[in-house]
Amino acid sequence: MGYTASMHASFLVVGAGLAGLTAAEQIAARLGKDCLVIDRRDHIGGNCHDMQDEHGVLVHPYGPHYFRTDSERVVNYLSRFTDWHPVRYRVQSCTKGRYWSFPVNLRTFEQLMGRECTEEEFRAWLDRERAPEDGPPANSEELMLRTAGKTLYRLFFAPYTLKQWGVPATELAPSVCGRIPIRTNRDDSYLKESFQALPQDGYAAMFRRMSSSPLIRILTSTSFEEVKKRITWDHLIYTGPLDAYFNYSLGRLPYRSLRFEREHFSADQLEERLPVSGKEGFWQPEMQVNYPDPAVPWTRIVELKHATGQQVEGSTVIREYPDAWTTEKEPYYPIPSGVSEQLAEAYRKLTKREKHVTFIGRLAQYRYLNMDQVVLQALECADALAGGRDNPA
Ligand code: FAD
Ligand code: UDP
Repeated sequence: MGYTASMHASFLVVGAGLAGLTAAEQIAARLGKDCLVIDRRDHIGGNCHDMQDEHGVLVHPYGPHYFRTDSERVVNYLSRFTDWHPVRYRVQSCTKGRYWSFPVNLRTFEQLMGRECTEEEFRAWLDRERAPEDGPPANSEELMLRTAGKTLYRLFFAPYTLKQWGVPATELAPSVCGRIPIRTNRDDSYLKESFQALPQDGYAAMFRRMSSSPLIRILTSTSFEEVKKRITWDHLIYTGPLDAYFNYSLGRLPYRSLRFEREHFSADQLEERLPVSGKEGFWQPEMQVNYPDPAVPWTRIVELKHATGQQVEGSTVIREYPDAWTTEKEPYYPIPSGVSEQLAEAYRKLTKREKHVTFIGRLAQYRYLNMDQVVLQALECADALAGGRDNPA
């Protein structure tokens, strides 16, 4: 649908990602108001978008999106638009020429020692390896030296983090590496949350159902900058980059970008690969393999078919290359560091002065948020709007 010069919306939603679509769905359903949702990309769903590639394999083109949460409210809400395919997300790390059990657990320690070990042995070893506690950790390196200890930190975290972010772990908030659990038992689940599942029919189908209200109009391939002089609205829900909204008046916030490279393998090629993958019909042993080695240009390879359980011939993998961000590229990650946080906080103060504007989502908040946190934020924004406020208290 195109737009016309006279277009007016009760709510203009900038960004058709998870934040924007949740907000639009709620505004239509709870406030009974019309919403115009725009996105500069040619599809809805933002980074959570999924699609079948030319071989019919379901892929996540913007990096793997493993839905997980401890929030009952978020599960109940999204369950109105999708059934779930439960998944135990499993990852390995490939370094020094071999695959390692990951995240760090007793099996990883046994691989390091080259023999069977007990939890007690691993704990005693970690106690010797770990840096002592001395107040709260100032950065990701300090945190990992205290939790994983120096050998495991140097093997799995320091080089991967440098490659992923382009800065050392000493410059990143503890919460960055702190996302990854360290366990002394044999539990090798990548994530900690109690609910872990993918939408049964994929994210795209879930998003279509979320935006099916006649009160919601969607314009893709349309940027805010392009239409803001031609569309009027009563209230703006903004999910784009925080600094862009304010025309970079306080300076530019740093982002990290990515490049994705897709490769498909036929059933015959997978057959040949069996000695490496160990699993018929797959290219690698698990859904995701991380590559800390500096000589390898990608950070991870994702073979989503492990997680979706899709019955399809052949398989597709996506290699993920970290990339310096420039204005022509997608700002995939806000960079959580002391310096960026100060600037982001200054911008967040400016948002308080904006009347009838709500800033939600990963880019507008400049926070490294998971999907469930973004949904919760949008639900709380709808609570506030329903109570006559622009933003949650
Ligand atoms: P986005 O999905 O970024 O949507 C914002 C939308 O706004 C975009 O589509 C953009 O095109 C549009 N936009 C921006 N500016 C403008 C403008 N000026 N005009 C018009 N449109 C505009 N979370 C998990 O829970 N599990 C995972 O496994 C996971 N993996 C991830 C892997 C990667 C590589 C990345 C980058 C993120 C991952 N996330 C994961 C986080 C997840 O992507 C986010 O939590 C979620 O997508 C945030 O939704 P959003 O709507 O805030 O942002
Ligand atoms: N990390 C690491 N080694 C790994 C996996 C993760 O050093 O094998 C660090 C790295 O800094 C990464 C962060 O932990 O950016 C969070 O990892 P996660 O897999 O959660 O990243 P995301 O999926 O959000 O990109």
